[in-house]
Amino acid sequence: MGLFSNKWEYSGYNIYSMKKYVDKKRIIFNIIVGSLTIIALCLIGYYTIDTTIRIKKSKQFMAQIIEYKNQQEELINEKKDDELVKKNPELTETGKENLKNIYVSEEKRAFLTFDDGPSKNTIDILNILKENNIKATFFVLGCQVEVFPETTNKIYNEGHYIANHGYTHIYKSIYQSPEQVLLEFNQCNQIVANTLGIPEYNSHLFRFPGGSNRWKICRNKKTSHNIIRTK
Ligand SMILES: [Zn+2]
Repeated sequence: MGLFSNKWEYSGYNIYSMKKYVDKKRIIFNIIVGSLTIIALCLIGYYTIDTTIRIKKSKQFMAQIIEYKNQQEELINEKKDDELVKKNPELTETGKENLKNIYVSEEKRAFLTFDDGPSKNTIDILNILKENNIKATFFVLGCQVEVFPETTNKIYNEGHYIANHGYTHIYKSIYQSPEQVLLEFNQCNQIVANTLGIPEYNSHLFRFPGGSNRWKICRNKKTSHNIIRTK
């Protein structure tokens, strides 16, 4: 029996009954460790799931914010388009009267106008106008608008008035007939409209290249003047 008298050598077993030796402390310890492990695993699982859900929700929220921002930008762009259409100059009765009396006024006044552009100098002119908070009228040539479309848009977007100065500015060409004057008038209008993206754009304001009076082909100018007056 001496061989089996020391139960430490047969840890966990009752030698006599060969049944599993019951060590209550160890069982309690194992239960506690097991429980803690399960609780820890549950907590890790819970926080993993919770964090995943939170990340998913935050991504959805970010997507909503981006969508909202895009919608707002679209609305702003649509509004800008509407404003551009509204900015298409209208020839009102008041406007006609103002033009008729352009040289007559009780108070002294000056209109700042720039002809024959846009050109490489126009940006400098625009900067000076902006610095001094002055709005001007630009009598543009169709052929120049074709070369400087971005500058033309800048003139318009900075609140200046774009008026018509024909297409070529070549006297022999434009003054060969009243019809030719009208053709250049329409050409310039069309190019400005296309460049600004405002299909109906019409400034209703035309300045004859070389001036409307002091020119040899006065007859053509006078007839042209009457034709254009109706446009
Ligand atoms: Zn000119």
